Amino acid sequence: MRRFAIFGGTFDPIHIGHMRGLVEAQEIIDFEKIILVPAGVPPHKSHLKRSPPEDRLEMARLAAKDLGAGIVSTFEIESKEPSFTFNTLSHFSSTFENISPTLIIGSDSLLEINTWHRYEDVLSRAHLAVLPRPGFLMEENLDELGKTLWPVRIKEIKRNYPTSASDSLITDREREIALLKMSRLNISSTEIRQKVEAGKSIKFLVTQSVEKYIIEKRLYREV
Ligand code: ATP
Repeated sequence: MRRFAIFGGTFDPIHIGHMRGLVEAQEIIDFEKIILVPAGVPPHKSHLKRSPPEDRLEMARLAAKDLGAGIVSTFEIESKEPSFTFNTLSHFSSTFENISPTLIIGSDSLLEINTWHRYEDVLSRAHLAVLPRPGFLMEENLDELGKTLWPVRIKEIKRNYPTSASDSLITDREREIALLKMSRLNISSTEIRQKVEAGKSIKFLVTQSVEKYIIEKRLYREV
């Protein structure tokens, strides 16, 4: 089985928190391929004003280039349907043969995963690799975390850290939810948009190429 990572997000803009997460996740799990998937119409953010998909896509491409790993998929952006992870997962599972998909998500997303469309099916079909985000603690209460996933049951809790760089929950569907131990960066796209609007610098919060793109395209001037 080939281990593929799928990393979806609004990426408005893609930032260093995302990129550092990918670098460290790759070091821990050693994926054969990482696919970045900018969302078309994010189901949970459809009421918010967002940058055009072309801009979010281009910034993801610039970041992937700097990352030197990862390809960017236009699947969700082109699909015109709401971006449900379930659909994306089905798409990649049928596109690539013999893959074992792992979804990379932030810990804030894990804590609300039970609101996702067909989340039980998502958790049946993919492993999860969870990036820690400040303010969304998890490792202290692995048992509690299992309850968030109900009716998916946790069969086993593996406390591997610090021998290996993650603790894991194993579901009754034989999928692994790996809680990765890595730098926690308190960076969000929201903060970046607000800084640009306020005329402040976003240097070192995004790559140089993404910063340049935001300035040239005058993104986030009016939020
Ligand atoms: P916004 O502030 O607009 O809500 P965001 O910064 O959360 O955006 P998204 O594009 O929504 O960025 O995030 C895509 C994925 O990356 C999500 O699973 C999210 O949890 C994760 N993520 C975002 N920022 C970080 C971070 N600093 N550290 C770890 N994971 C992150």
